[in-house]
Amino acid sequence: MHKNKVKILNVNFDNLKRKEILNSLEKKIITGKKTFVVTANPEIVMYAEKDPTYLSIVNNADYVIADGIGVVVGSKLINNPLPERIAGYDLMCDLLAKGNEQGWSAFFLGTKKETIEKAINNIKTNYPQLEIVGWHDGYFNWEKSDIKEEILSKKPDLIFVALGFPKQEKWISQNIQAFDKGFFMGVGGSFDVIAGEVKRAPLIWQKLNLEWLYRLIKQPSRWKRMLVLPLFLIEVLKTKVRK
Ligand code: UDP
Repeated sequence: MHKNKVKILNVNFDNLKRKEILNSLEKKIITGKKTFVVTANPEIVMYAEKDPTYLSIVNNADYVIADGIGVVVGSKLINNPLPERIAGYDLMCDLLAKGNEQGWSAFFLGTKKETIEKAINNIKTNYPQLEIVGWHDGYFNWEKSDIKEEILSKKPDLIFVALGFPKQEKWISQNIQAFDKGFFMGVGGSFDVIAGEVKRAPLIWQKLNLEWLYRLIKQPSRWKRMLVLPLFLIEVLKTKVRK
């Protein structure tokens, strides 16, 4: 395997820091090179174990980044440490800021109609030089909708897709081949955060790598989803023992 990849269970992560990936992405966006980024957390890695189609979508993306401290801990357990957690939300904000500097264009697909409208207003305020070419909520009929055509006609530099996993990655992989250029990334609940409907953990919690705990306290309904964290670490340890 490429030395810049770290395999955790079956997902191949890129061994890059946030600044490094941002630099590479900037070059690709400026030269119009089509790019697909997956931000994978332990839930996604575990899900991919059971869904080979999804696993191949993830591993065929241009970059897979570690969006979860669990993934970083896992990489240390197998003595192949990833340098840091890169939250999908942070990478999205980095790109919106770059887009604001460079006058890039962007399309936003996902979340509920009222929420995406609020998010768009906040993006307009915070990134006034970014050209917002369109947006659409995430509750549409895949077979019947002409969203792909709408986005294609606008030729955005950046396409953020917030349908939650695995939907967002599946939507991107089904549609990306029609595009000549564009940066694509699934961003989960990030539009809900930009809209102010979901709060991210305060910085100190993030720095202490406790964002998952903050989320658990704020959205206790997610506790079942989080049970996957210890299971993930156990699976990673098993691969180490097998070796
Ligand atoms: N969502 C959507 N369409 C769907 C299902 C989900 O737009 O068919 C949105 C949902 O409103 C939410 C986001 O996708 O804004 C999922 O957020 P979550 O934090 O659950 O992301 P995940 O952790 O699953 O990536």
